[in-house]
Amino acid sequence: MGGRTLTRGRDGTVYNVVHQKAAEKEYRCPACNTVIRVGEANVVVWTEDTIWGTQAGIDGRRHWHSGCWARRPH
Ligand SMILES: [Zn+2]
Repeated sequence: MGGRTLTRGRDGTVYNVVHQKAAEKEYRCPACNTVIRVGEANVVVWTEDTIWGTQAGIDGRRHWHSGCWARRPH
């Protein structure tokens, strides 16, 4: 695991962001809806700021392409 950073979105939600140099398995990027292949750089994003509690936020974490996360509109 790389370092974790905190980012505040435009809506005020605080996101945890962890940069990974290489994916260990395939994930589907929620931004572009295409697959992040094994070995591809990605970021893991989640928020602990949900009405269902911290664990629900962690369980809802998503993997994004590093570029898609950087270009996100919020
Ligand atoms: Zn993507």
